[in-house]
Amino acid sequence: MKNTLLAGLFLLTSYSFYAQRAVNQYDVIKTAQEWKATLSDLEFYILREQGTERPFTSPLLKIKQKGTYVCKACKTPLFKSEHKFDSGTGWPSFDREIKGNVGYGVDYKAGYARSEEYCLKCGGHLGHVFTDGPKNTTGLRHCINGAALAFIPDTK
Ligand SMILES: [Zn+2]
Repeated sequence: MKNTLLAGLFLLTSYSFYAQRAVNQYDVIKTAQEWKATLSDLEFYILREQGTERPFTSPLLKIKQKGTYVCKACKTPLFKSEHKFDSGTGWPSFDREIKGNVGYGVDYKAGYARSEEYCLKCGGHLGHVFTDGPKNTTGLRHCINGAALAFIPDTK
């Protein structure tokens, strides 16, 4: 009985996870094949298959310049350099997103509920948000896969 209940719950939660990420809600819609043509294997795995890169592997971790972090897939601005901080986790971390460009859902891939973040324009998976961020600002840690982002330095 308990197992049936758990299986039912699992089905329900996975259904709602995928249901809220229905493809037709996005401005940028491409087939898996079209995405594969423009993204590397790692980028595709993260952005389109909700994967996670290995920690401490992103070249973006070292960037201290001023600029904007955009979606690797559709170039939508997602995070500003002034909101980036060194969380020590091995993933690029921000205390806030650029409002209106990042969507939130719930993902149970780790076996428990995590708040997933994705690009609102193309639906690309970015990472997760946790509540152990800097207490002196938002308290939030947006834990983002570097491979899901591209950095555009400020020009002036
Ligand atoms: Zn995007």
